[in-house]
Amino acid sequence: MAVTSLSTSAPGSEAALPEESRSPHRPLLGQSLAELTEWVQAQGQPAYRGKQLYQWLYQQGARSLQDITVFPKAWRQAMAQVDLGRSTLHHRVVASDGTVKYLLKLADGQIIEAVGIPSAKRLTVCVSSQVGCPMACDFCATGKGGFVRNLATHEIVDQVLTVQEDFGQRVSHIVFMGMGEPLLNTANVVAAIRCLNRDVGIGQRAITLSTVGVPGRIRALAAEQLQVTLAVSLHASNQTQRLQLIPSAGAYPLETLLDECREYVQITGRRVTFEYILLAGLNDQPANAAELAQHLRGFQSHVNLIPYNPISEVDYQRPSEASIRTFVAELEARRIAVTVRYSRGLEENAACGQLRASHR
Ligand code: SAH
Repeated sequence: MAVTSLSTSAPGSEAALPEESRSPHRPLLGQSLAELTEWVQAQGQPAYRGKQLYQWLYQQGARSLQDITVFPKAWRQAMAQVDLGRSTLHHRVVASDGTVKYLLKLADGQIIEAVGIPSAKRLTVCVSSQVGCPMACDFCATGKGGFVRNLATHEIVDQVLTVQEDFGQRVSHIVFMGMGEPLLNTANVVAAIRCLNRDVGIGQRAITLSTVGVPGRIRALAAEQLQVTLAVSLHASNQTQRLQLIPSAGAYPLETLLDECREYVQITGRRVTFEYILLAGLNDQPANAAELAQHLRGFQSHVNLIPYNPISEVDYQRPSEASIRTFVAELEARRIAVTVRYSRGLEENAACGQLRASHR
């Protein structure tokens, strides 16, 4: 089921996914207990070493087989070149609110962002699903930097372990809101979710997958029967406006996207979150709220308003607090469930992709 690597994907097209390769170079991170046991046995070791490997990989933070001191020394040395699949820390920034941003270097030298967001009882990790992003949404820093490649399963799992180890605290929540469009990398993202749930012990309901929408992929995700929360980046109350912000909306009209979301609710029984960036004077008018409410009437959903985080490449503006409050009130008056999400760690290049752009 898991796929270890993919080449390029254009918006709306995920090339045929290659079957999982069993090559000896497949990193061990991302593999299940059964797979790891099979692997140690293939190396001539007893089956119980599979369990040890599993614990050291997922609980003890092993970065190389050398670290696993319960293994026989000779075998550790012979296996020193085996790739566990861990990244290396390239840069780390702590914001005054405790948010920690990481730039992680992958085996091929590519750099990705991950963010650890602590709050009262939670530790949330914002993970990337791709190096860069091909969707090119106009307000997004990652989109301005272009697309390089999909992340492999272990590269997604690694981000969560890295934050967990750095904080010395269990991760409670995961949001796929870092770099990339997860539904252009569905196979690896789904495999990572299953691993994070099964092997790292994070509840599926504590995982949110955020997508701008790729035709047919929300339906395909529903078929995976996961308990994760689906968040859809809507950002506009009509197709014309959405197309101004999101180029891929041309091939995926708002109505079609919403219909697929309705199917998702029907299949999974889980409500959908709609993300809506508020851009001053553009989509933050009371008329937009009314139009949005019209689309969502009777829809088992929740609106998450995100006041725009300014990025240097474009000159959109964040609305005033007063107009944010008015927008909320307009939705509430129409019985739409709504919350406002303020980004954390703002002074440290918070908008996705910004930290990476400034440290290449
Ligand atoms: N590609 C996915 C996930 C990555 S972006 C998606 O589009 O949903 C995660 C969220 O951050 C999305 O809702 C995205 O629209 C939002 N975002 C991107 N740039 C932003 C900015 N400058 N200010 C506020 N939110 C932004």
